[in-house]
Amino acid sequence: MSDSFGGYRSLLVETLREKGIRDLRVLHAVSIVPRHRFVPDAVRHRAYEDSALPIGGGQTISQPYVQARSLELLRITGNDRVLEVGGGSGYQTALLAELASTVLAVERLKELAQSARVTLEALGVSNASVVIGDGTLGWRPYAPYDAIVVAAASPGIPAPLVEQLAPGGRMVIPIGDQELQVLTLIEKTGDAIRQTVVSDVRFVPLLGQFGFAG
Ligand code: SAH
Repeated sequence: MSDSFGGYRSLLVETLREKGIRDLRVLHAVSIVPRHRFVPDAVRHRAYEDSALPIGGGQTISQPYVQARSLELLRITGNDRVLEVGGGSGYQTALLAELASTVLAVERLKELAQSARVTLEALGVSNASVVIGDGTLGWRPYAPYDAIVVAAASPGIPAPLVEQLAPGGRMVIPIGDQELQVLTLIEKTGDAIRQTVVSDVRFVPLLGQFGFAG
């Protein structure tokens, strides 16, 4: 994608590399998805800083490093079907769309979902859909998923998400209270679940039936 922000995007990729992101497919996705198109005008000049930014509705677009690390942990292939819980601006949806076969993003706030749809369509992203709903319930019609990324802080692992994970599937989810969480990798092998703690993170809360009370 050639635009006047290309140079800033390359610097962001360099920063992510320095911070330890090694997956070339993930770095490539960051190098082509125009993050500035997913943030409000007021913060556009900060779009390529490695930081979370406000996107309206009291929500934030997550820090690029945390998103890139999550994508790396998910080991997504071009055949994978992916569920994103907390689509927000649609930026991570676009990154996922570069890596996966299809992406289904669930977002509970109508305005954010609508704006994400407009941006994704304007960018010609054709293998991702955004639906409005409580993502703690997953999205049964398209299950199972090879990878699930939860982009909001959860008090635990929502049972419907584990159910909707395919055998061999991977899920990344921040688990903790509303202040601090640990980014956790869940791997499903048959009926067993393996849980690996990755790092401390800070996300906005996951509000819903299997999340925090709204
Ligand atoms: N991946 C997003 C990050 C958005 S922040 C991005 O790149 O911009 C987390 C998002 O999760 C917020 O938009 C919030 O509204 C949404 N959210 C919180 N609880 C949710 C739920 N139960 N279902 C779906 N979305 C939820």
